[in-house]
Amino acid sequence: MLIFFFRHGLYICGNMSNLTASSKTWKQIRGKLTERREVGRELKLVCEIHGTITPVSSPNDFRTKSPEGGCGVLCKTVLNCTHECESICHINDREHAHYKCRKPCLKLCGNNHSCREKCFVKCPPCNVKMEKTLPCEHVLAMPCHRDPTQVNCLVLVDKKKPCGHMEKMTCFTNPASIRCREVVPKTLTCGHVKEAECHVDPGLITCKVQVTKVLIPCGHEQVVLCHMHPEMISCETDVEKEFEACKHKVRHLNFKFNFDLFLYATVLISFK
Ligand SMILES: [Zn+2]
Ligand SMILES: [Zn+2]
Ligand SMILES: [Zn+2]
Ligand SMILES: [Zn+2]
Ligand SMILES: [Zn+2]
Ligand SMILES: [Zn+2]
Ligand SMILES: [Zn+2]
Ligand SMILES: [Zn+2]
Repeated sequence: MLIFFFRHGLYICGNMSNLTASSKTWKQIRGKLTERREVGRELKLVCEIHGTITPVSSPNDFRTKSPEGGCGVLCKTVLNCTHECESICHINDREHAHYKCRKPCLKLCGNNHSCREKCFVKCPPCNVKMEKTLPCEHVLAMPCHRDPTQVNCLVLVDKKKPCGHMEKMTCFTNPASIRCREVVPKTLTCGHVKEAECHVDPGLITCKVQVTKVLIPCGHEQVVLCHMHPEMISCETDVEKEFEACKHKVRHLNFKFNFDLFLYATVLISFK
């Protein structure tokens, strides 16, 4: 036996023969109900929304014929989005506040592209590829939602670097940020001219031109590389030296004192 409470009364679903067979009270109830024509094989449900009449005679009929508390037809209420509700007739959420419309979204982006999402989903940024003009006036293809003022322009253009040389680079590149690799003659601090890449500081270039320098402190002249300092050069001029103690003379190539070589030379001369 099943008892249903509806808005306007109480309904009992059960087998009347079984109930009255063993109960005096039920016999009395049947008498009253029959008198008032309130016993029957089925119940007629009237849909409050559509006025449709649905006869039900078993608990299973409620599940199949009135699954959402209304009737069996489609709701078809026109929603705020202009689509129709696709649910079966329902008693709850008549305002459709919780209804998820699964039809394709009808909204357009600022460039009139239609949204590719379902209607209930919040519209994502539009990804349709389109050509946009950048502040530099180049036209590039990019997704519709991209702001062209925030895009790095990759078009190759000739730009003048601060040194005056031209170079092909992407439009957004700052020419001052590029090392100029053009080979140019550079005048070094010594006055000699050497070919080097444009960005190189001539003060940092090693001059390898051969020049004659007067060495310090010996005063001999020697052909050396321009960058060498006269105080740091080993003199290669032959000189004759005399030992204070023995008065032996020695010819020694390197002016800079080399003790081992000096002793060896001294011994050689002594044995002559
Ligand atoms: Zn209905
Ligand atoms: Zn919709
Ligand atoms: Zn609906
Ligand atoms: Zn768009
Ligand atoms: Zn949308
Ligand atoms: Zn550009
Ligand atoms: Zn340059
Ligand atoms: Zn030089």
